Amino acid sequence: MQIAQVIVNNNSYQTDKLFDYEIPTDLFRKVKRGIRVMVPFGNGNKRLEAYVLNVIESNSRNSKLKKVLAVIDEEPILSEDQLRLVFWMRNQYLCKYIEAIHCFIPKSMVNKERKKITLLDHSWEEVLPSSQKKLRNIITTLQALGGSAYLDLLMQHIDYKEINESIKVLLEKNIIDIKYELNSKINIKTEQYVRIKIEEEQWQPIISSLKRAKKQKILLEMLKEVKEISVKELLERSNTSRSSLNSLQEKGYIEYIDVEISRNPFGDKKFDPFYKFEPNEEQKKAIDQISASIKNESSETYLIHGVTGSGKTEIYLQLIEKVLKKGKQAIVLVPEISLTPQTVSRFMGRFGERIAVLHSNLSDGERYDEWRRILRQEVDIVIGARSAIFAPFKNLGMIVIDEEHEHTYKSEQTPRYNAIHIAEYRSHLENSVLVLGSATPSLESYHRAIEGDFTLITLKNRAMKSNLPTVEVINMAEEFHHGNTSIFSTELLKAMADTLSNHHQTILFLNRRGHSSVLSCKACGYTVKCQYCDITMTFHSAEKRLKCHYCGNVKNIVKSCPECHSEEIKYAGIGTQQIEDLVKVNFPKAKVQRMDMDTTSRKGAHEKILESFKHQEIDILIGTQMISKGLDFPNVTLVGIISADTTLNLPDFRAAEKTFQLVTQVAGRAGRGLEEGKVILQTYEPNHYSIVASTHHDYESFVKDELMIRKEFHYPPFANLLLLNFSGKNEKQVYAIANSVATNMKYILYSEGFKELDAILLGPNPSMISKIKESYRYQILLKDIGIPFSLLKKAVKYLLIDNRSKYIPQGITCTIDINPLSII
Ligand code: ADP
Ligand code: ZN
Ligand code: ZN
Repeated sequence: MQIAQVIVNNNSYQTDKLFDYEIPTDLFRKVKRGIRVMVPFGNGNKRLEAYVLNVIESNSRNSKLKKVLAVIDEEPILSEDQLRLVFWMRNQYLCKYIEAIHCFIPKSMVNKERKKITLLDHSWEEVLPSSQKKLRNIITTLQALGGSAYLDLLMQHIDYKEINESIKVLLEKNIIDIKYELNSKINIKTEQYVRIKIEEEQWQPIISSLKRAKKQKILLEMLKEVKEISVKELLERSNTSRSSLNSLQEKGYIEYIDVEISRNPFGDKKFDPFYKFEPNEEQKKAIDQISASIKNESSETYLIHGVTGSGKTEIYLQLIEKVLKKGKQAIVLVPEISLTPQTVSRFMGRFGERIAVLHSNLSDGERYDEWRRILRQEVDIVIGARSAIFAPFKNLGMIVIDEEHEHTYKSEQTPRYNAIHIAEYRSHLENSVLVLGSATPSLESYHRAIEGDFTLITLKNRAMKSNLPTVEVINMAEEFHHGNTSIFSTELLKAMADTLSNHHQTILFLNRRGHSSVLSCKACGYTVKCQYCDITMTFHSAEKRLKCHYCGNVKNIVKSCPECHSEEIKYAGIGTQQIEDLVKVNFPKAKVQRMDMDTTSRKGAHEKILESFKHQEIDILIGTQMISKGLDFPNVTLVGIISADTTLNLPDFRAAEKTFQLVTQVAGRAGRGLEEGKVILQTYEPNHYSIVASTHHDYESFVKDELMIRKEFHYPPFANLLLLNFSGKNEKQVYAIANSVATNMKYILYSEGFKELDAILLGPNPSMISKIKESYRYQILLKDIGIPFSLLKKAVKYLLIDNRSKYIPQGITCTIDINPLSII
């Protein structure tokens, strides 16, 4: 007998396994891998939608097996490659099958069944005695609704708790019938079209017969030309009425059809053509090298390390042209579509229509439309954020990940996947090339290039021949000692004044509101660090103590600075609003604009600000991370970094890397035109290696220093991390549960022969953000130091997936994050 192994569409750990169902003989040929079916599930045999992951043949007859009820799809909605990815993701990220499956299918595709109840033509009044008030009421309501209604509608009119019981009785008595219908939550948008149905040899007699129906004749003649056209357009063009068209339909000369139309997320926005550049030498070398892999269809990964403005986009564009010429398709990932409008418009301007864009503020309907366009292979290029890596292309030639160091490629929701890893696996499965690009590659990627996993391509020069900007470092401790307690150094104010008088533009950059839980000295910039983890310690107000949220190390707070004895030691944190006010005080005539979460929450606000900045209607643009990416404005000659330390002091082992990336990216906005650019960087740590390296645009020397520290403190890329997060309303309980997981974990690892666990298992400790929305948070951090990562994962899987109900009670949330990018 044939057995379908299915995953039911239900997001619970109990159902996160393959369930066997017998395939009835009439469904033999229809049930395939990747198709959806309906199955009876659980004690009540509730009908559930399920995904067939395997079809197997069994010799023994197991009469206890339930049977597949119906097949939902005609064709598999998950391809073989996608199924492989589902299994791979579950192993990689310790997520549920269903979570992995939902990455490939838009939310709106996940169908919900509806029960339709129909009154049978039946003398029910005789069967149901008048004492059966409830049953009779159901029937009269059903009659009032036209004899047939969905259960949910019926329930709006009748509020019996046990309506399902009554329905069952009515069904048994043969008074009603129940049908299950699948009702997709969103509708496909269609438009009515009309199509001609006349054969060539019928034409003449029909036209002659219409001598007196002039309008119908006109319509038919127009239709003969176009064969098929939207009703609206035809009526407009022919200046006729619907009734003439209807008469043609009644005579059988034409038919109406519904044609699916796409909602276009860009509306009618037109994109200026973006003409091809003759590649310069560095670009040409990169294009030639990568083209060879495109030609051979080898699944090679390239890391393009190119300085800001080196013309990486042009390289991607010309490579994609080659991919399309081969009849293949390309996926382009950008950190966040709304923050990279320039990149998107370059792609649109070069390739036009056959591009689908998947950005985070698409409505469900829009996302669904774009996804279907891809599925029907109507587009060749998909540009999108992280989730676009799952685009259902069937003939993928290349994946590009721009700004590959960006944290947005890692999902912060289950399944907590990393789009770069998914891309690697896809490129391997589908023999396509993977291109990662950045001016500041992540340490992980760069290390892999050094190790030979990736092929490194370096671009040292800007495409427009402009120089990289000069970076001037201002030591804020010296400013303080010279009596300047303002957040602007004298140098920065002077440079801003100069830029204004030259009619050039300034960008002032402030990292997102600094971590107020970081204690720092205003006179010298000192912050307290954990001696074991090299991580800035966080202030916990409840206990009035400093904690290392990696290892749990505790210190008392200090009243005065241990370095310089100043009493000006306090919590860092200035905002963009404050900067804006100060700029206006200093430069009352300047046109100042702030760009952060607050000023860009409205749809289109972001584009509007950039547009007016482009047209030089703004002199000084103040912004957060939002302005660090992808902007290419030639008139910007000054970039001011208010405080590099907000990033440098993040309680995160990636703080130095993030600082180097941010400074490089923000600085890269300056001097992209003909004028020289200048960057003024304010810091209390002018000698920190990441500051020094970034001022010299010296990525290599930064990486060398940083890799040494990562190795010494056992951080990625030299170790894998696994973060378990526990949260719940009752703090004692959260801690107790986390603690019991830690104890059990230690027991398992101990019995596997690993006796020294102090460096491997850290915690439970309060998370850096120890309370969110009344929920207390604790974490356990695992590092694979001298122990296989697979063993750590195995232990986690045993405790938190296979036996979850035993260790995690109701009311406690526990998440698993494999190689998290931030530990908060
Ligand atoms: P990156 O993404 O590497 O920071 P961009 O792709 O934004 O750099 O390119 C920087 C600028 O150089 C853009 O204005 C781009 O149009 C221009 N550019 C790119 N390639 C060339 C070329 N071969 N010749 C002239 N200009 C170019
Ligand atoms: Zn100090
Ligand atoms: Zn520590």
